Amino acid sequence: MSSHSESSLNDDPFENARQTMVEKHLRQRDIHDPRVLAAIKCIPREQFVPPGSQRFAYNDCALPIDCHQTISQPYTVAFMCAAAQLTGDERVLEIGTGSGYGAAVLSQLAREVHTVERIPELAEEATGRLQRLCYDNVHVYTDDGTLGLAQAAPFDAIIVTAAAERLPEPYQQQLNEGGRIIIPLGSETTGQRMYRFTLHNGKLTEENLGAFVFVPLIGKFGHPSDRPE
Ligand code: SAM
Repeated sequence: MSSHSESSLNDDPFENARQTMVEKHLRQRDIHDPRVLAAIKCIPREQFVPPGSQRFAYNDCALPIDCHQTISQPYTVAFMCAAAQLTGDERVLEIGTGSGYGAAVLSQLAREVHTVERIPELAEEATGRLQRLCYDNVHVYTDDGTLGLAQAAPFDAIIVTAAAERLPEPYQQQLNEGGRIIIPLGSETTGQRMYRFTLHNGKLTEENLGAFVFVPLIGKFGHPSDRPE
């Protein structure tokens, strides 16, 4: 696992806000996994939002980033990480790099993180940011993440940070036995719900984890209305 250097957090003007957010918006709700709480506590979210939004970085809400996308709400990031049941030795695939914040949190919870973003500008910005902050177990790719990432498979967990109408077909083939897929499914009209799929003996079992709101997953196995030519 990689970590943000402690010396660079000395005199950290955001430390209190970060602690308060973890206590008030995560622990006092239903996030109890100590590793997830510790990971969120050490990732400087203000470094992943546009400069003009830094003062909102520890409000528990999604914020706009470049290319009309969003950095996910901290509660949602924590919820998905906890649902993935990571112990520290996993190889994880994240779909939807966005700012790179979710990948940075995952870098504290897993051995290796592979993250795919379809918008090249966002992938490039996230790569630079993650390198600058020394999260060196994170690998960023620009591609259609509905295809998974065959060249780095198999994974112990796949975390998808945009909503599809149904589970993209390639993911099951890229999952290890016992592996988990955490993904929001549904449409704006029917509503979106978070699911955990677990692979046992070649079959996926499905658990509905509740209602969430996400941007659409766009691609070959993604949102049909946005399917490319
Ligand atoms: N995890 C991100 C973070 O921490 O900032 C937030 C992700 S944002 C809610 C969803 C991201 O999914 C967007 O950046 C969007 O461009 C990306 N996305 C949508 N469809 C995709 C696809 N097929 N492959 C890869 N990324 C995709």
